[in-house]
Amino acid sequence: MASLDDKLDAAEEAMVAEAERRPISTILLIVAMQTEALPLVNKFQLSEDLDSVFPSGVPWVRYHGMYKDLQINLIWPGKDSALGVDNVGTISLSLLTYASIQALQPGLIINAGTAGGFKAKGACIGDVFLASDVAFHDRRIPIPVFDLYGVGLRQSYPTPNLLKELNLKTGKLSTGDSLDMSPHDEASITANDATVKDMEGAAVAYVAELLKVPTIFIKAVTDIVDGEKPTAEEFLQNLAAVTASLGQAVTQVIDFINGKCLTEL
Ligand code: SAH
Repeated sequence: MASLDDKLDAAEEAMVAEAERRPISTILLIVAMQTEALPLVNKFQLSEDLDSVFPSGVPWVRYHGMYKDLQINLIWPGKDSALGVDNVGTISLSLLTYASIQALQPGLIINAGTAGGFKAKGACIGDVFLASDVAFHDRRIPIPVFDLYGVGLRQSYPTPNLLKELNLKTGKLSTGDSLDMSPHDEASITANDATVKDMEGAAVAYVAELLKVPTIFIKAVTDIVDGEKPTAEEFLQNLAAVTASLGQAVTQVIDFINGKCLTEL
């Protein structure tokens, strides 16, 4: 006879399958930087939330509105209260993702942002990638099984039709908390077989998996990691133009998603 646990598992699976067949209604767009957020806020005509869904005092900002049939929530982590720079990186984005899912119960998460690209893997400045999977490159724990826990490899939600329809590249994304790349990081990024490198993706994936929310990653290349130019300089030089391309790509993705259910993506 089936145990109560088995019955609960079966009920949960049935609920997930049911949700996958309903058109997606609520999108959570998570971005790390204000410069990445603003083209999207303008495009979707979102307004800033005056009555915050987040704990009082945190710098996190939600913009929201209806776009076609979709309730769009764009979240960015605001600025560091002492230093005035964007709260980029895995810690900030993990907390933000957790709080946003709890408050908004989205049907799909899109983590959109900029990234470094590897020209040896075919990346060029301005390319927009839909990541096939994500992993960490700065969590080295050389003990059996803990090593795999550290790498934290997770698949993005499969979107074969989206990939076919839109002109996006695909590749693996590797995440760490540094903009530069140490030799240790480089070895892990190579082991991860990554084409693009960012500071948030795998952290968003971790929280999304905990709370069972399907997630995709759209990353636009601001700098070539295995090129000649210093990363920080190249990043700042290309940021404005590349965030405009990112905005266009995210708009195409959202237009494609509108009216569809998860299994149609
Ligand atoms: N000096 C910049 C710092 C931003 S940090 C500023 O405040 O304007 C870089 C951001 O872009 C992170 O959110 C990260 O996800 C992404 N990024 C772009 N290029 C990257 C690279 N080569 N390595 C890691 N992250 C990168």
